[in-house]
Amino acid sequence: MEIIETVQEMRQRSEALRLDGQTIAFVPTMGFLHEGHLELMRAGKKHAGKLIISVFVNPTQFGPGEDLDQYPRDTEGDLEKAHNVGVDIVFMPSAAEMYPEESETRVRVENLPRHLCGLSRPGHFDGVATVVAKLFNITKPHVAVFGQKDYQQLAVISRMVMDLNMDIQILGVPTVREPDGLAMSSRNSYLRPEERRSALSLRKSIDLAGALFRGGEKKAKAIKDEIQSLVLSHPFTEIDYIALCDPVTLDDVEVLGHENLLALAVRVGKTRLIDNCLLREGRD
Ligand code: AMP
Repeated sequence: MEIIETVQEMRQRSEALRLDGQTIAFVPTMGFLHEGHLELMRAGKKHAGKLIISVFVNPTQFGPGEDLDQYPRDTEGDLEKAHNVGVDIVFMPSAAEMYPEESETRVRVENLPRHLCGLSRPGHFDGVATVVAKLFNITKPHVAVFGQKDYQQLAVISRMVMDLNMDIQILGVPTVREPDGLAMSSRNSYLRPEERRSALSLRKSIDLAGALFRGGEKKAKAIKDEIQSLVLSHPFTEIDYIALCDPVTLDDVEVLGHENLLALAVRVGKTRLIDNCLLREGRD
């Protein structure tokens, strides 16, 4: 497994792979790898001959007062996991390498960030779109893999790729969960033991919404009210948002249709957790 730290070397390596007739899958991450990340990598390997991942905690997607400085890091552990899953190249640039001082261009998707996490994290998706566009230009993938756990991020990136005619296939991978249902996240490491049970309220909300929907409830407010009561019945919880929306536009819906997205963000103690699911007619 190769480890590359500079933009120039990474670009040259990817170009050489392409000239050699190889296909490239790319998985961007912020490191502290868990089984969710590894599942993305396995999916990438199925779709291309070479697998490149990036490990980069991107400062431009963190707002003031967010957890950039505390974000967990474990370079040694990450490299071991990447090696075991069969990654070919790990791109690990420094912040200075990715953002030279003279950089003044940002990529902004206009409407999708005006919903869900974008409301409480202004500028977050500009940071995400910009760094992913840069990483795409540097690693030159044919296929890039993202987790459905970050549903809005996947939507923003898919939209950017479409709007900017980027010749890259975007793959979404279902959320990987702990045995008790908690969606895996690097941020789960922040949870204190007494908060861990409250973190399960997100998964329980998804199950509750599914049961209500299958039982014939179509009023978004009724479902959101039930979820709110469920979440707030757990200690240490504070709701950022509970949304029922159109899975393509992310616009709120009042009456559920054939296919709907339930998305929620809940603070458990100081840790902000997100989760989501699709509620579809004729499906579990
Ligand atoms: P991050 O390192 O948190 O920026 O995540 C890197 C990629 O892994 C993103 O595409 C995430 O959506 C994806 N990811 C994170 N957690 C999970 C999970 N539990 N299941 C599936 N994908 C995930």
